[in-house]
Amino acid sequence: MSTETTDALPAVTLRIGSEIRTHAQGVHEHVNPATGQVDARVPMAGPAEVDEAVQAAHLAFATWKATPAAERGRALLKLAELVEAHVDEFTELGIADNGTPRTTARLSVDAAATWIRYYGGWADKLPLGRISSTVGAGGVFGHTLRQPYGVIGAIITWNAPLMSLAMKVPAALAAGNTVVVKPSELTPLGVMLFADLVHEAGIPDGVFNVVTGGADAGAALVEHPLVKKVSFTGGPETARKITATAAQTFKPVLLELGGKSANIVFEDADLDAAAQQAAVMAFAIMTGQGCAMPTRLLVQDSIHDEFLAKVAAIAGSFSIGDPQDPSTICGPVVNQAAIDRIEAMVARAQDDGARLVMGGSRGDGELAEGFYYLPTILADVDPASELAQKEVFGPVLAVMRFSDEAEAVALANGTDYGLSGYLWTADARRAIRITEELETGEVIVNGAPNAVTERPFGGIGHSGNGNEGGVEGLEEFFWTKSVAYGNG
Ligand code: NAD
Repeated sequence: MSTETTDALPAVTLRIGSEIRTHAQGVHEHVNPATGQVDARVPMAGPAEVDEAVQAAHLAFATWKATPAAERGRALLKLAELVEAHVDEFTELGIADNGTPRTTARLSVDAAATWIRYYGGWADKLPLGRISSTVGAGGVFGHTLRQPYGVIGAIITWNAPLMSLAMKVPAALAAGNTVVVKPSELTPLGVMLFADLVHEAGIPDGVFNVVTGGADAGAALVEHPLVKKVSFTGGPETARKITATAAQTFKPVLLELGGKSANIVFEDADLDAAAQQAAVMAFAIMTGQGCAMPTRLLVQDSIHDEFLAKVAAIAGSFSIGDPQDPSTICGPVVNQAAIDRIEAMVARAQDDGARLVMGGSRGDGELAEGFYYLPTILADVDPASELAQKEVFGPVLAVMRFSDEAEAVALANGTDYGLSGYLWTADARRAIRITEELETGEVIVNGAPNAVTERPFGGIGHSGNGNEGGVEGLEEFFWTKSVAYGNG
């Protein structure tokens, strides 16, 4: 493996208050997933750097929370404009960060700008409190106050770093908090440009800080007494550790975790539209590396074979290759560890009785250098097996059959996760019934778009708790004080 870094990529640095720091306690070599080549060096912060960043954020909090709300809002709206104006650079950095194919990388920049603008708009319209009693017996007057926490520790993962920033940071800042972000060491590149633009938007030094690093830096952020709330996006194992640490001081934690979301397809559905969505969501969007992807396909018996053939035909038409190429639909997965995990899970699924319909191996030929895994469909998956129960986080679709509505719902609810539910039927009453029964944070009927700013996104069970998006996503960044005034 070559160790050449490229000049085209930004230097990865820590952003602590006004300081841009190129060195920390260790170094991680960033590997381009499409080529397997090292292309950047990531300084790895330890507890000392995390402490400095948290202190900077703590210092900035007093000024930022006292900044007129309209001014905070203007700065966020300016940031949204700047993100849009840098769409080309963000697209390139998104591709370089984790191998996201160009079309998706570009769309995610537009989406990120929309999220920033949405929360920028909230800054001077915050739901700050309500009057809970007027002058009553004894002249007591009461109301609630919504107050920002202070320093928010934001720990994000690698699959969509710009989106994760956009879903957390603007809401936290609009509410008057300051933030220390710990990105994944696998994807620090786009975060650098984001930090530059935060500065250019006029957001004061210390309000937004970045500590690049790994698990140690994340753990130090969670432990830090001046971090008043943690907002985490990542996997359940890490969430368990974070929650255990936070429990020591009763620190609130927002958890956006994984999923094993079911896509239920009834015989009366628009099968062509359903097959298109099933294939696109399982393989094309971020090459299966998304938390809310419908990775379990539940198909009614009567249409099972016909429907599976449609999905396989669409998936088979997807071009796999260089994420730089605008015609690429499926790119690489993030790293060698992901390839190893996916290969092992697919092998164990077959040992558990699943039938391989397509894929089931790494890319070869021109794809052999990068971390490519072919779109893979496994049918007749045992609902109790690992593949039906655990997140693969790669282009692997687990197919199961059902005979009636009750069985479909039982299968859909039959995992520990509860992030997204997908449903295809022409029967509106059935759609309403099943929507109520699904134990998930969102339900998407007949392919409707739901990745929108104005509605909350979040899971239950092993998919986490709390929300990003909508007024609910804003409310995560306030604590509530109840106030009463007497006559004394
Ligand atoms: P991960 O949990 O391994 O890592 C996530 C982040 O946590 C990284 O920045 C990592 O460095 C940090 N971290 C690791 N150990 C830590 C510790 N002990 N204390 C504090 N921080 C620590 O997750 P991953 O494997 O990188 O990401 C994939 C997971 O993220 C999947 O489960 C996926 O579904 C989930 N995800 C969820 C959402 C959502 O919004 N619900 C979005 C994207 C991804």
